[in-house]
Amino acid sequence: DVSIVKRDAHNISRRDISPAALKVLYRLGDAGYQAFLVGGGVRDLLLGGHPKDFDISTDATPEQVKSVFRNARIIGRRFKIVHVRFGREIIEVTTFRAHHDTEPLTEDQDRKSIKHLDSAHAASGMILRDNVYGKIDEDAIRRDFSVNAIYYTTKGFALLDFVDGLADIEARQIRMIGDPAVRYREDPVRLLRAVRLASKLGFEIESATKAPIKELAPLLASISSARLFDETVKLFTTGKAQQTFSMLREYDLADYLFKPALEALDQAKPVHARILEKAMSNTDLRLSQGKSITPAFMYAALLWPALHQQLAQLHNNSGRPPMPILQQAASQAIVEQLKFTAIPKRLTAMMREIWELQWRLAPRSAKQVESVYSHPKFRAAYDFLVLREEAGEDTAQAGQWWTAFQACDNAGQRAMMEQLV
Ligand code: ATP
Ligand code: MG
Repeated sequence: DVSIVKRDAHNISRRDISPAALKVLYRLGDAGYQAFLVGGGVRDLLLGGHPKDFDISTDATPEQVKSVFRNARIIGRRFKIVHVRFGREIIEVTTFRAHHDTEPLTEDQDRKSIKHLDSAHAASGMILRDNVYGKIDEDAIRRDFSVNAIYYTTKGFALLDFVDGLADIEARQIRMIGDPAVRYREDPVRLLRAVRLASKLGFEIESATKAPIKELAPLLASISSARLFDETVKLFTTGKAQQTFSMLREYDLADYLFKPALEALDQAKPVHARILEKAMSNTDLRLSQGKSITPAFMYAALLWPALHQQLAQLHNNSGRPPMPILQQAASQAIVEQLKFTAIPKRLTAMMREIWELQWRLAPRSAKQVESVYSHPKFRAAYDFLVLREEAGEDTAQAGQWWTAFQACDNAGQRAMMEQLV
């Protein structure tokens, strides 16, 4: 049962869609396949926003999609999709999925044995392989929330709505398609997606969709740390990081993303919570200005109390910790976090540098000032220092010193360095 909204009855225009996404739609169509824009792109366009990416859904198999484009790559195992690249833009193309009921794998069945299967479930209800293809109406009900399951076609420029998604856009609510508990068990990441979407869009989570979240939160323990890292980055870049963070705590989801960090945070002085708040509002602000952000900065702020907890155990005086002690404390704080989210090495390296530079940024001598100033991570470390200072942490005004230093010309900078003892 589909409701069709004709081109003059909705606000989506071809001009709002990225040329790359349009190319994919037309080329698949020319090759004889069905192809639709779906997901966040359609949802955000309906809400008058500017989608950051476009997802396409088709009846072509991944292999068929790949053969239509030169610049296409099949990725994923649990859920195969095709990435079609146009310069810096990547369009995700997914094949219509169908419902599949297989006998759940038993506990002792080798998880490796699912490698070659298209369909597999765990006893918990979790979907381990989701590569059974079907028709568009089947695809619609396999999606997570109704607002994410509205299809746009370039053939006639109509919208196809199988699950009352348009009504939910109107009502500004996140509603799970089907039985919410069953759908969360199939893929517990949907618990996080519900919160992220609600926060990002300023929507309510519909009551039946909201009801099982707390109880099912522990299912997140079975999600890989790699996937949880990806999801965390998205949670922090909704443009409303603070609100997202407090929703995660409210629904007991946060513990599955950063429990040790939260424990340290809750035991820390209030200034540490203010640092994290400022890191989050800073991220929101930078995103709204189109500036780049790095998850390393957010994690550095989130784990700042955990770092101090480790430091306190290794170094029982409040002075400047020796570098090896600091490095050891950083390693321990990071190792604890890696059990939850697989932060890539490049980012943990940056977190360490941001942290180490907090002590090295205290201006002491001309030589040391020059060396820190030319450090590749000076900028991020300085931003972090200022944030700590603004939050009320005692930094002996090192942040202000650097702010003044950067505002000086060469002569002024030399004068400032000469004043250091
Ligand atoms: P964003 O604005 O973050 O891109 P999105 O809704 O487009 O939000 P994607 O991760 O890009 O999120 O997914 C694209 C679409 O794929 C979703 O809109 C939804 O229809 C479907 N989808 C994504 N993840 C899931 C999931 N875990 N379960 C079911 N459907 C999903
Ligand atoms: Mg998307």
